Amino acid sequence: MAYKKVVIIGGGFGGLNVAKGLKKSKDLDVLLIDKTNHHLFQPLLYEVATAALSPGEIATPIREVVRHQANTSVIMGEVEAIDKNNHQIIMGNGDRISYDCLVIAIGARHSYFGNDAWEPFAPGLKTISDALRIREHVLVSFEKAERIDSISEAEALLNFVVIGGGPTGVEMAGALAEIAHKTMFKNFRRIRPEKSKIYLVEALPNILPTYPLKLALRATKDLEKMGVRVLTGKKVTSISQEGVQMEGLFIPCRNVIWAAGNQVSPLLKTLEVPLDRAGRAIVKPDLTIPDHPEIFVIGDAACAMGKDNKPLPGIAPTAIQQARYVAKIIAAKTPVENRKPFKYFDKGSMATIGKSKAIVVMGKLQFAGFIAWVAWCFIHIVYLIGFRSRFGVMVEWFYIWLTGQRGVRLITRTIESELPRQK
Ligand SMILES: Cc1cc2nc3c(=O)[nH]c(=O)nc-3n(C[C@H](O)[C@H](O)[C@H](O)COP(=O)(O)OP(=O)(O)OC[C@H]3O[C@@H](n4cnc5c(N)ncnc54)[C@H](O)[C@@H]3O)c2cc1C
Repeated sequence: MAYKKVVIIGGGFGGLNVAKGLKKSKDLDVLLIDKTNHHLFQPLLYEVATAALSPGEIATPIREVVRHQANTSVIMGEVEAIDKNNHQIIMGNGDRISYDCLVIAIGARHSYFGNDAWEPFAPGLKTISDALRIREHVLVSFEKAERIDSISEAEALLNFVVIGGGPTGVEMAGALAEIAHKTMFKNFRRIRPEKSKIYLVEALPNILPTYPLKLALRATKDLEKMGVRVLTGKKVTSISQEGVQMEGLFIPCRNVIWAAGNQVSPLLKTLEVPLDRAGRAIVKPDLTIPDHPEIFVIGDAACAMGKDNKPLPGIAPTAIQQARYVAKIIAAKTPVENRKPFKYFDKGSMATIGKSKAIVVMGKLQFAGFIAWVAWCFIHIVYLIGFRSRFGVMVEWFYIWLTGQRGVRLITRTIESELPRQK
């Protein structure tokens, strides 16, 4: 099927790799649209939130990435609706853009499972702004605790609760434990940051439920050694500015981080196709939507089935492999009836625990500890975009590994008005 104009929504792992895969298709006019101006390497976002890396080390301007692709233009803007019957997308300002072929790669946001009122007290981690907000909140808590006289308020400021025991929650909890117990050590005079309490809360019986139990238990042990209190089988029932309520336990705290659920943007609803519970479009084996072979949905926005008839995981390799598959179909002008179903190749998964431990599953190979952490570092460096980012991140990691210090501990607002007034 020959297309002339290809529109890609989203410059994440999925969208950007479709654009790159169309580099040699000189007859195509490719338009890549993203509401931000950068491609974000989300797997290292928690390192920005915990003051280890700067935003510029994990985000690259999309224009820069495709600058040598003469057939590709980029616009920064938010797509608000898709008019599939007229082959047009509608931008936030009302602009209409026509397409012959559309690739939707808009990723996902966090979901509070219907409890949206929790969001202001328990921000999730998906964008650079989220990470910077969390970083500032964490750092400000130490500063406030140093200044106030109330012991119970200081304790609440030094309690950190991460909700969700998946890889992001585990990574976040480990990094927070390191900040509190190592980086901040001897930095304060009135409080003792090493006495901070870091909680990781998971509703299921174990953290890392998609990993083999042996590795999940090993990760639990490693986290506990770092001072993280791992609370499993605990369902959160409410979150407020006072703290987190679970079945039978209340933790007073001012720092809650949400790492528990995903939901796709309402943009997909405008497609008027079947969606799964997380709002993802249920796609056909060639990743298109019913009756529209010219509309592909990929990455976190798609519910595509794997070999075992279970939805594929919402991880970067899924988005990247789907992007390459879609780019090949578009570039080769493969007729609809000749499209082979998308096949996912499971390369494994990994999660890091603190600055020198990780767990890795690669087929039958399962390992943990320092070697797993070296493998984790290697894979993440390879997939980062651009030499500058790779070099910068390697240098930062080596420095943190050697000294335990995190270089990006910046607070960019004043806190005076947020402190209790002295009589
Ligand atoms: C904190 C965190 C840690 C993670 N760790 C790992 C990990 O260790 N390993 C792993 O494999 N995966 C990890 N993931 C998951 C992985 O990042 C995602 O699966 C992957 O990014 C999905 O790619 P995507 O292209 O579907 O979406 P994304 O990479 O999220 O890209 C979507 C893009 O679409 C843009 N967009 C959204 N809506 C619109 C709109 N309406 N108009 C215009 N643009 C829009 C967004 O700005 C964004 O740039 C992690 C995710 C997070 C959040």
